[in-house]
Amino acid sequence: MKGTINIDQERCKGCELCIEFCPAKVIRLSDRLNAKGYFVAAFDDGKECTGCGTCAVMCPEVAIEVMKS
Ligand code: SF4
Ligand code: SF4
Repeated sequence: MKGTINIDQERCKGCELCIEFCPAKVIRLSDRLNAKGYFVAAFDDGKECTGCGTCAVMCPEVAIEVMKS
């Protein structure tokens, strides 16, 4: 199964929990600041997201939406 995620950049607080727990290691911290002044997480599109949903479960800000394909 494959998936893709959408990260709501204005909800993200850059806590890195999604990065730490993603088994496929397809999320990284970007160098982009959101309106609140946090560096936000970014999805690495070129890699293999499995759509497992772990990132969405771990995110304390409910900033991640997972789409399975
Ligand atoms: S759905 Fe799973 S594989 Fe995809 S980014 Fe989230 S934790 Fe990583
Ligand atoms: S877990 Fe949520 S708040 Fe934390 S870096 Fe990831 S998307 Fe941002």
